[in-house]
Amino acid sequence: MSLRRFDVAIVGGGIAGTTFAAILGGAGLTVALIERQPPAALKGSAYDGRTTAITFGSRKVLEAAGLWADLAPHACPIDDIRVADDASPLFLHFDSREVGDDPLGSIVENRLIRKSLYKRISATATVTQIAPATVASLDTSGSLARLTLADGREIAADIVVGADGRDSFVRAAAGIETIGWAYMQHAIVTIMGHELPHDNVAVENFLPAGPFAMLPMTDASDGTHRSSIVWTDHMDAVPLYMKLDLPAFEAELQSRAGEWLGRVWEIGPRFTYPLQLRHAKRYIAPRVALIADAAHVIHPIAGQGLNLGMRDIALLSELLVDRRRTGLDLGDPMLLKRYEDARRMDNIAFSATTDILDRLFSNDIPPIKLARRMGLGAVNRVPFLRRFFMRRAMGAAGALSRLGRGERL
Ligand SMILES: Cc1cc2nc3c(=O)[nH]c(=O)nc-3n(C[C@H](O)[C@H](O)[C@H](O)COP(=O)(O)OP(=O)(O)OC[C@H]3O[C@@H](n4cnc5c(N)ncnc54)[C@H](O)[C@@H]3O)c2cc1C
Repeated sequence: MSLRRFDVAIVGGGIAGTTFAAILGGAGLTVALIERQPPAALKGSAYDGRTTAITFGSRKVLEAAGLWADLAPHACPIDDIRVADDASPLFLHFDSREVGDDPLGSIVENRLIRKSLYKRISATATVTQIAPATVASLDTSGSLARLTLADGREIAADIVVGADGRDSFVRAAAGIETIGWAYMQHAIVTIMGHELPHDNVAVENFLPAGPFAMLPMTDASDGTHRSSIVWTDHMDAVPLYMKLDLPAFEAELQSRAGEWLGRVWEIGPRFTYPLQLRHAKRYIAPRVALIADAAHVIHPIAGQGLNLGMRDIALLSELLVDRRRTGLDLGDPMLLKRYEDARRMDNIAFSATTDILDRLFSNDIPPIKLARRMGLGAVNRVPFLRRFFMRRAMGAAGALSRLGRGERL
């Protein structure tokens, strides 16, 4: 079998791996993007029913990399976020106008993000898509990293990047362990139609079994108002809700959504996702780096998982592109160390915050309930605190990379 040589081999053509390939390829690096699913399946609506809340910070990265213009028509701005604690009259209101003219984030369907990214890499001569293909082994003992695919093909690269998700093969093959746990909650994801417009408002209602989020989407082509639903519930209850027929499921949706959107109905399809927290003990090994879910998986309570991955991507691509300009080895251990050191604390801090939020809100214990309601009310009354939380949630605080600051590579 022939051996093909690249600057960077990316394992995993999910949103993270494909974004990374598009950025590196656009900057002239030769990239192999290896994905085990056929690209047509990844772009279909049966594969991933989720939307992503793309923060202001991630949008800057995508804009600077020239990847946002194609997504913008499908992106619904989030101008307001309302956080409610079950039936409590106290709630927290984040209004984007308090921190500037930009929306707090934008909701885009994952299938459309994948479609747009695949279109871009197909038009980028420096990116070679290898799919469907599964990576079977990784060898980093020589002067280059070598990947062998299940069909026997071989790929050599200066560096292998694991973008292969929560059960990362690259991570395991590099001998990197993880810490974490599975939550007792699963998420039900679907698309909901509604009678009244959402006015670009996202709502997160904390119920005892888990948060119920309504995320504003662009109207359908026939004018139907739509919101994406992320309904987190106890893992034992989720299979029962998944099996409900349409009228019974819609009655459950209506009771959780309340009346502010008028009558609601399910457009679907319905998906379910088990939830977990998992963190790689290292993000790097000789000639290996991990990005996005391969390095860290968090609870979706704050819609930040992929946004953290975007920050990994922005920094690692800057380091690799700068290094390529010097003509030196991309697998340099000092470069890898810089990446790990810069990204680790940010990712750990977000993982811990989302975990604490979930534990604090997903319960019905009276003293905790009282404390969190008072907490919500207090933050809502203090503009400085509101602005602090908004900037963190927007990913606008402390950008570590040029792309993160909206500059080109
Ligand atoms: C319910 C829910 C809602 C969410 N909402 C948000 C949100 O609003 N905002 C946000 O920022 N994040 C959100 N997230 C998190 C976000 O979805 C993930 O962080 C993101 O999808 C991770 O992308 P990824 O490319 O790293 O991994 P994946 O999407 O898992 O992609 C990994 C890819 O690698 C491929 N692969 C795996 N192993 C191999 C192998 N050996 N060889 C070849 N290919 C391989 C897989 O086929 C897959 O395509 C949410 C998560 C959930 C569960």
